[in-house]
Amino acid sequence: MTSTIVNVALNRPLFKEFAYVINKEISDSHIGCRVKVNFANSTMIGVITKVGVKNNSSIKLKEATLIDEQSFITDDVIKMLEFGSNYYQYPLGQCFNVALPKLLREGGAFSYEKIPALQLCCNIDGEILKKIKSDDQKRILDLLKTGPIQRKELRERGFLSSTENALIKKKLVEIINIEKKENEAFSTENILKETPPQANTEQLSAIYTVQKNSDFKVFLINGITGSGKTEVYLRIIEDVLKKGKSVLVLVPEISLTPQTFDRFYRRFNVPVSSVHSALSDRERLDSYIDMATGNSGILIGTRTAVFTPIKNLGLIVIDEEHDSSFKQNDTFRYHARTLAIMRAKINNCPVILGSATPSLETLFNCYKGLYSRIDLKYRAGGASYPDFELIDLTKEPVTEGLNKGLSQTLEDRIGEETAKGDQVLLFLNRRGYAHHLVCHLCGHVFTCPNCDNILTVHKTNHRLQCHICDTIFTAPEKCPVCENTQLFEQGFGTEQVNDYLKDRYPDVGIERIDRDSVTTKNQLEIRLNRVRDGKSLIMLGTQMLAKGHDFPNVTMVAMLDIDSSLFCDDFRAMENTAQLLTQVAGRAGRGTKKGKVIIQTHHIDNELINDLINPQCSYIDIANKLLETRKKLSLPPYSYQAFILCNSSIRNKAFNFLSNLSDKIKTFKDNYSNLVITPVMSDKMEKIQNRFHFHILVTCTDRNELRKFLTQVRNTVEEQTVPNDIRFAIEVDPIAMY
Ligand code: ADP
Ligand code: ZN
Repeated sequence: MTSTIVNVALNRPLFKEFAYVINKEISDSHIGCRVKVNFANSTMIGVITKVGVKNNSSIKLKEATLIDEQSFITDDVIKMLEFGSNYYQYPLGQCFNVALPKLLREGGAFSYEKIPALQLCCNIDGEILKKIKSDDQKRILDLLKTGPIQRKELRERGFLSSTENALIKKKLVEIINIEKKENEAFSTENILKETPPQANTEQLSAIYTVQKNSDFKVFLINGITGSGKTEVYLRIIEDVLKKGKSVLVLVPEISLTPQTFDRFYRRFNVPVSSVHSALSDRERLDSYIDMATGNSGILIGTRTAVFTPIKNLGLIVIDEEHDSSFKQNDTFRYHARTLAIMRAKINNCPVILGSATPSLETLFNCYKGLYSRIDLKYRAGGASYPDFELIDLTKEPVTEGLNKGLSQTLEDRIGEETAKGDQVLLFLNRRGYAHHLVCHLCGHVFTCPNCDNILTVHKTNHRLQCHICDTIFTAPEKCPVCENTQLFEQGFGTEQVNDYLKDRYPDVGIERIDRDSVTTKNQLEIRLNRVRDGKSLIMLGTQMLAKGHDFPNVTMVAMLDIDSSLFCDDFRAMENTAQLLTQVAGRAGRGTKKGKVIIQTHHIDNELINDLINPQCSYIDIANKLLETRKKLSLPPYSYQAFILCNSSIRNKAFNFLSNLSDKIKTFKDNYSNLVITPVMSDKMEKIQNRFHFHILVTCTDRNELRKFLTQVRNTVEEQTVPNDIRFAIEVDPIAMY
């Protein structure tokens, strides 16, 4: 019998693959197939990375059982993972583990099961429609006219299952199971379901510039919010689909709103698949099969979507490319933008990065001539850009409102806007009721016993919560140190502002949107619908509100507390603040009414704030200034960084481990040029969930030198036995400081 020796990547923290024998003649086309093997007395699923020479002799190798007859992991994904493993210093087998959907990781079959959908079960005539009051029910009936729709799609388009169930109860629709087959290529005829709007001159030029090019090239579409970037993507995507190729669209989780989904579902006749946190494991696998077999033309998803094999990949779009959610902060610490660009290079297809506030890294790459920048300077659809106004908090009277985040002037403004029936959006990036609780007598501040973190006061169900480890404590009655019962809440959060607003504006409808008040997509939809229907005029929220949503009647946006983000020791703080403020401001005046943006501050002379409100100063101007500073200080993107990270439940153990490593590093570090390493330091938050965190920061002006150096560090660690309870990691291109 012929057999083949293969190399298998396993989910183990080891930088090597393992040789096994397969009792069958297989070829290179089996690279990427899953196998079942025995490793250290347990059964594991691995992926074939190399197919060796035929082997008739009896080398004592263990046998591997082939799970897949054909590899569904495409070549470009394998190459991208190999690159990623090398670049991020993370074992290839573990990279595969992150890249595969759970069901495949566990050995499940690469095949569809039945897919639940809704279809009409009678003719919907005017008589029936007259009897239906709910707009959503009518919309569903209307959508179903063209055929069955997957329940997953209806959910993504913002419909509640209760709305669907009501229609089922009325016997107007029924649940069916769609039976999909693999490899049913989508049709390239009649790609469009609706006629797109006439593109404006700027858009046309952007579309043309990208379309001219079907080879690898990175484009940055730098367009202000509302300039029609998404419309540009849609037009370019249409062109790619017509050629029978598929498209990967990466977006931050937070922008995967029904509005985003709707634009894709509404525009194209081509099946659209998705990857996001609200999918079940089964649904994720279905999307994976859709793309790998070419059934769907478009995959919209969050960062992990970058690992999905896509038949005939023709374009990658990364919307909001500056967004930090593209970076994974544990296990395989990759940046989806970096991997996506590498994937496009392997595939020889274009990549579009889109943002109103591009990252400094991306801008720098444009200046270096590596990426081409396309600017969209005007709002599409005629909306004008909002005016900015500062409220100098030092001049405001100390009112009850001021203590809860709202100056007198701002309160007046909110009153004026809402009296006109216009809507306002208040932005505060701090959830909870109060920032912390302090004892009036001895000054004791309540902190988390598990973390070096102050506890946030939450009033609903009377509790204190750690926003790092999420542990909840019942609110204390007295100080544990001096037993005094006078405890003060200091610093306001969204919950407190919300309570105050309710007292102050009892009849305008207020929607608080943050992680505590909104825990499901449905709850978010219900709130946003009340805003869209004009039932609520004030929206108060965190990050959740900053992106992705389009509120045509919001005429005023206010930043309640920008000051707390100005003074931060992370060198990226200014960049992040500029991005956040520009994004939040972009929510104002999206419709026909002119918008304004109000910023409350105690630091009226702050340079960044003044640049941000200056109509002559664009985000790019600000970014250029920040780049200048980075250059002077030789900070990224003018240098490259990596963290060597370690933590343990025993403080000394973590510190000693890293100190020893640091000593070893010193013996070879001089072999690398332009490399600077810090001593072993505590993380900003040393204790997190009862584990103690230390790090060494490495900075190097040469990317290759850094990579080689890190490989030697990793090898050094591999040569020793890492004591138990030590967690060690290398993080390349960090986007936050430890
Ligand atoms: P961005 O992605 O840059 O925020 P969008 O593509 O969402 O911008 O466009 C903003 C708004 O303008 C949307 O409501 C969109 O439908 C509309 N729009 C975009 N392009 C055009 C156009 N050429 N003509 C008319 N309306 C447009
Ligand atoms: Zn904690």
